[in-house]
Amino acid sequence: MGKDKGGSRKKLVYAFGGKKSEGRANMKVLLGGKGANLAEMSRLGIPVPPGFTITTEVCTDFAARGGRYPKGLESDAADHLRRVEKEMGKTFGDPANPLLVSVRSGAPMSMPGMMDTILNIGLNDATVRGLAAKTKNARMAFDSYRRFVHMYGDVVMGVPKEAFEERIHAAKERRGVRLDTDLSAEDLESLTASYKALVLERAGRAFPDDPMEQLWGAIGAVFSSWNVPRAISYRRLNKIAEHWGTAANVQAMVFGNMGATSATGVAFTRDPSTGERRFYGEYLANAQGEDVVAGIRTPLPINVAGLRDAKTTCLEREMPAAYAELVRIYERLEEHYREMQDIEFTIEEGRLWMLQTRTGKRTAMAAVRIAVEMVDEGLISKDEALLRVAPDQLNQLLHPMFDPKAARKVVAKGLAASPGAASGKVVFSADEAHEAGSRGERVILVRQETSPDDIHGMAVAAGILTARGGMTSHAAVVARGMGKCCIAGCGDAHVSAEQRAVNMNGTTVRAGEWISLDGSTGEVMLGEVPTIESEIARVVQGKLEPEKSPLYANYGRLMRWADKERRLRVRTNADTPEDARIAVAFGAEGIGLCRTEHMFFAPGRIGPMREMIVAENEEQRRRALAKLLPMQRRDFAEIFEAMDGLPVTIRTLDPPLHEFLPHTDVEIGALARDIGVSYEALKQKVESLHELNPMLGHRGCRLGIAYPEITEMQARAIFEAAAEVAARGIDVRPEVMIPLVGHHEEFTREAAVVNRIAKEVLAEGKAGAKGGKKKPAKIRYLVGTMIEIPRAALTAAEIARDAEFFSFGTNDLTQTTFGFSRDDSGRFLPMYVEKRILEADPFTTIDQGGVGLLMRMGTEAGRSVRPDLKVGICGEHGGDPASVEFCASLGLDYVSCSPYRVPIARLAAAQAALKSRGGKKGAAKRAARKGGKKAARKGAKARGKK
Ligand code: PEP
Ligand code: MG
Repeated sequence: MGKDKGGSRKKLVYAFGGKKSEGRANMKVLLGGKGANLAEMSRLGIPVPPGFTITTEVCTDFAARGGRYPKGLESDAADHLRRVEKEMGKTFGDPANPLLVSVRSGAPMSMPGMMDTILNIGLNDATVRGLAAKTKNARMAFDSYRRFVHMYGDVVMGVPKEAFEERIHAAKERRGVRLDTDLSAEDLESLTASYKALVLERAGRAFPDDPMEQLWGAIGAVFSSWNVPRAISYRRLNKIAEHWGTAANVQAMVFGNMGATSATGVAFTRDPSTGERRFYGEYLANAQGEDVVAGIRTPLPINVAGLRDAKTTCLEREMPAAYAELVRIYERLEEHYREMQDIEFTIEEGRLWMLQTRTGKRTAMAAVRIAVEMVDEGLISKDEALLRVAPDQLNQLLHPMFDPKAARKVVAKGLAASPGAASGKVVFSADEAHEAGSRGERVILVRQETSPDDIHGMAVAAGILTARGGMTSHAAVVARGMGKCCIAGCGDAHVSAEQRAVNMNGTTVRAGEWISLDGSTGEVMLGEVPTIESEIARVVQGKLEPEKSPLYANYGRLMRWADKERRLRVRTNADTPEDARIAVAFGAEGIGLCRTEHMFFAPGRIGPMREMIVAENEEQRRRALAKLLPMQRRDFAEIFEAMDGLPVTIRTLDPPLHEFLPHTDVEIGALARDIGVSYEALKQKVESLHELNPMLGHRGCRLGIAYPEITEMQARAIFEAAAEVAARGIDVRPEVMIPLVGHHEEFTREAAVVNRIAKEVLAEGKAGAKGGKKKPAKIRYLVGTMIEIPRAALTAAEIARDAEFFSFGTNDLTQTTFGFSRDDSGRFLPMYVEKRILEADPFTTIDQGGVGLLMRMGTEAGRSVRPDLKVGICGEHGGDPASVEFCASLGLDYVSCSPYRVPIARLAAAQAALKSRGGKKGAAKRAARKGGKKAARKGAKARGKK
């Protein structure tokens, strides 16, 4: 491995524990989140079992060199191990007084349960006796030993865990007991021997007795686990960089399974579901850490406040001293990190040890509440609060919930682990979920418990139901992170994956049948329960009083802060007055795209539309268009009214005409009768309009070029409507947009038609005015174009001579830049992402290197001839946070997205502004620190520009 800049060998290993450390919290990329936070806790004087972190750089190097370690690593690790031995007063491999260690993975960003961890390393037939003698607890010693052989055999030696599980199950049956804890020391000793025989048989080599061999086997397995399929798929889902690697943390073991005064648990410094400021967690007495997270036993709450019923107890009652210290520590940690923490702890015979702290995953509701309340508590600034909520998370708050008035046939109740309303067909395996989900079916994944291997199924499921595990089980944590509805620990659900059925209080639900999950109450219901709008959607539309919604109060404040920060405006794509009104309620500042063709599909309209399409000549076409005119005018008037004072971009007809025509013989026959032509003639006309490649065919401005009367009718409808509503005192700001322009001449001709009609209509005065005196209407309007063909981006300077605005149609621009069909690329694009040819689906997130480059060129070229050119985006990307950030960086004026994504875009735009300001401030600061006055001046200048 390389040398650092000073020429000395790179530091491979960092110590922590014993109230001091070599690392710190801001070294996550090098030490991983776990290692950096263990180091930070040690610095704060919090009790952390001592250990050391082998850096992520070693992991990357290890993979690149085919599994070989860099020179010097083994001796460095040995030195650190000696320090740990000294601190713990025990020796690794000493049969009389053995030190045991764990090796845990820890990536720069949290990947819960995705990579490997091995506990109790250092045990063999000799040291287990030393451990038994030292702890005076033979049962605990052999329990640790059997766990170790199981874990190591599975993770390092590749023996399937089910094989071990079968043996412990058989041992319990032989002894006639139900729980693992009912097995005696002798039972566990012979179970361990049987495990070792199993390893020899399945792996073809003996289980290693040498503690050093065990240690390096475990370290290698942890590093290799960076590249197991589930970890790769988690990184892809969560956009975690591939090149980072994981660190390996080697740490002295402390034991939560030493008897009644020992325990292990996990907790959150605030409620991860609601965001309420209360200490919230779970623990298991006499257990090791993996028991809590794996959801094998359902844990108990840590405090009285968390008690579910009078029968259960809690840590606060059982171990008050350790609990009091835990409270002191969590308060310290939250104050120090100024962020909600997810902590893991172990109590060994009454003594508390902290094993981990990290930023806690939370639901959208909790994220908003925590961010806003932390500002009120003076812990964080408003800027920080804005950066704490992932824009996409807001989806959860805006989307529908179950109708409280709908009948609910509740068959079971579990823990409300992650809110949301989900209905779907029951499936019992992640593979099944994945398959059905890929076919577009809505499924609920029902499992005894989930494990990291289920990640691909969880990602596509509408909701997740598990029979076992608590609020911090794998299912709960992962679902919360994905913003997915989850009910965990549903003891009422008896799942039989083999029989593909789940029995809930006497009701059997089989694979393929529908159930509904309410992630806010924990209720499981039969069938598909109808949904209604979310609380926030109801408040913004005036259907619920804001005072009745504390959730809205927090959301509203956060959004107001966002609006103050952002520079990008947010418009909406809306085709109906109803959509427009919802979008305005969500904060839209105009319509960025009104697709007029959708209006033609309505009943009563498709007839004249078809008549227009099959017309033999211009005269017939104009006759049909005249029937459509009043309908379009009415639509536009209603939209202008809903958008009083805001710009409305209306696009002229775009899709290929054959989309409007009937295709079956019966429908063709009916239309032929309606319009009085023969069936044969109409059939021939329909066939003549058929195109092999309609998306590249006769559509967009090409229609208006061929039939200018269509553009005329639409322009007339727009301006007559505008004049009419303006006469009623409404502030109307039409922007007429020409689609699919690739050549400036296309635009110029279409714009000429629009301007001619505008002039005529506005000169006529208020349309539709009966009797009243007509005076010319004064309406400011713009005529601009979509940029959705590469040639338009390349020749933007020519087009901008006439076009008054640009709007990037990134759906078509992506289609035409890549040559990927928007309709069919779903067949191979997922594979491209899987094979890492592409980072993400370019129809979801802008491909910055290609499509983005065209956007940059188009914007710069357009503004070079028209400096005040208004530029926006109206493709689907307008609501994608990463794309919004990119649009902000290009200096676009606005993004336009569907109504429900408007708040997401507002927050994403604010984050983009904050990040770019932070970036510039940071650059100035860094430069100033280096004494580079020139660079500092540049940074300050950039700030001044904002
Ligand atoms: C686009 O192409 O990005 C666009 C907004 O237009 P449509 O999706 O209607 O083709
Ligand atoms: Mg388009």
